[in-house]
Amino acid sequence: MHFAPDTDEALEFVVALSNTVPTASRSGVDEIATPSELTALLDAFGYSGRFDRDEAELVAVLDARDRLRGVFVMDRDAAVAEVNLMLREVGALPQLVRHDALDWHLHATDLTAPLADRIRVEAALALVDVLRSDEMGRLRTCEAFDCDGVLVDLSRNGSKRFCSVRCGNRMNMVAFRARAAAGDLTS
Ligand SMILES: [Zn+2]
Ligand SMILES: [Zn+2]
Repeated sequence: MHFAPDTDEALEFVVALSNTVPTASRSGVDEIATPSELTALLDAFGYSGRFDRDEAELVAVLDARDRLRGVFVMDRDAAVAEVNLMLREVGALPQLVRHDALDWHLHATDLTAPLADRIRVEAALALVDVLRSDEMGRLRTCEAFDCDGVLVDLSRNGSKRFCSVRCGNRMNMVAFRARAAAGDLTS
């Protein structure tokens, strides 16, 4: 299943941002602990507009990360309230824009607005699509018991369970070992 292209992309960014926390990241440490690490993440997603690349911006983005992570464990009505709040806080004004290599897509803040505001609003716009399609079930937390990762499941049958291949492989190994251990006891 897919939403509009810019919605899919915004959701993938929210997941990537959310999974930089130490309890979900591959490295086990905060993966946006410095402005340059944040820059690398934004570059990977082709993020445009204003970057201050300073500590104040980073702190604001970390706060946005916490709020966006929170949406993944909300029910639909709570998520609606949070999304409406995020849009209201910055006076979001949806406009179709075309820039760089990108076809018409939605912006709701000026490109000179603070980065953390733009991240929240872009995420909120994507979540508007998810909520009005009644697809909040596509936003989930990773089923690995030792992972705080989140995921957006855009697969056709909605069968994605883990935030990453890494978590899927690790949990398969855990299950395999458990079966092997059980086999040892009964043989
Ligand atoms: Zn754009
Ligand atoms: Zn995971």
